[in-house]
Amino acid sequence: MEKFKYFMPAETFFGRGCVLNNKEAFLALGRKAMLVTGRSSAKKNGAQKDVTEALDTLNIPWVLFDEIGENPDVETVERAAKLAVSQEVDFLIGIGGGSPMDASKAIAVLAANPDRSSDILFTEAKAMALPVAEIPTTAGTGSEVTQFSIMTLHEKRTKSAIMPKIFAKVSFLDSKYMDTLSPKVTNNTAVDALSHLIESYLSVNANFISEKIVEIGLSLFKECIPALKARNYTAEDRDKLMLASALGGVAIAQTSTSIPHCLGYFLTYEKGIPHGRANGLVTQAYLELFPKEDKKVAQLLHSLGMKSTEEMGDFLNDVLETSETFTVEEITYYTDRAMENTQKIATFPYAAKKADIYKIFEKSLLS
Ligand code: NAP
Ligand code: FE
Repeated sequence: MEKFKYFMPAETFFGRGCVLNNKEAFLALGRKAMLVTGRSSAKKNGAQKDVTEALDTLNIPWVLFDEIGENPDVETVERAAKLAVSQEVDFLIGIGGGSPMDASKAIAVLAANPDRSSDILFTEAKAMALPVAEIPTTAGTGSEVTQFSIMTLHEKRTKSAIMPKIFAKVSFLDSKYMDTLSPKVTNNTAVDALSHLIESYLSVNANFISEKIVEIGLSLFKECIPALKARNYTAEDRDKLMLASALGGVAIAQTSTSIPHCLGYFLTYEKGIPHGRANGLVTQAYLELFPKEDKKVAQLLHSLGMKSTEEMGDFLNDVLETSETFTVEEITYYTDRAMENTQKIATFPYAAKKADIYKIFEKSLLS
């Protein structure tokens, strides 16, 4: 059997009520917390209330930073880190979709290095960080179990992972927080989870364990397909989506993501297309870049109960209700920019060239 490495150190609680039922886990993280959330959803879905109730019961003081927007930028996490330092916070709790969870990781680095500029995020892989807990309210990004924190970089007109690898010390996965999610955000984020499962499985970095994890994730995802199409989700569907998302996160924590994420970042930066949706737009054409006889693509489609890449495309068009339009100039620019991300392009097992990347954009966005 091949050699491989597996690492996912986040203690993870899954199930309804898991924050309050396991609140003692916060005691090991520090003495004063900063909650990192988006502007409103954490207040509406009950997650913020559960966390503050847990902290108040444990006599852990806390402050709130609730200004994280979608696809957070470095400027925002700098502001939050200043508040964390001035308030002498010694741990962070990210509550929300990937944006607040990722932001909490970057804030953890900046707050642990108050004398350094934010350049440290992109220059020092070994930078220290405050401890972080994560509570996902979308399913989704899997950030609660990955080491990644994706920041928007305006000067580079794209998004990029910070260099320090920040795993949560503890994650709480309670899908009841997703009950307030609109069908649109549910489906866009579910496609992100699916793209993690797909890209991890087909990556050159895939290994025995990551593949098995993906296979479980895909079988859970398959069971949610009718709900995603009907835009009507039971509590059991929400549980399955949250678990499939976390398994996708565990898988990319081993392999990283691949070409769809690399391409999707430009669609998000330049056109404001939500992250999961951006990946989904290019997924069928990415799968069609593999040779027809590739056994892993066939296995992957089979795990989802699909017979062809066309069926995958139809599913994605259905659940995403795709309608965006693009120009040749735009996709030419995205192709040039995507080729700069040699690391992600290199995860494709058959050496993708510039013409291949252009073809993915052309098939996905021009026809
Ligand atoms: P998001 O940007 O975190 O949230 C999208 C929208 O959903 C926001 O308007 C948010 O409102 C709302 N929302 C969140 N939870 C809700 C709930 N339970 N009910 C109602 N509305 C809710 O979206 P996301 O797709 O989860 O995260 C995307 C980010 O994660 C991107 O920056 C992406 O690059 C990153 N990402 C990270 C990883 C990783 O491994 N770390 C992997 C993939 C993607 P509020 O703003 O009010 O909260
Ligand atoms: Fe993603």
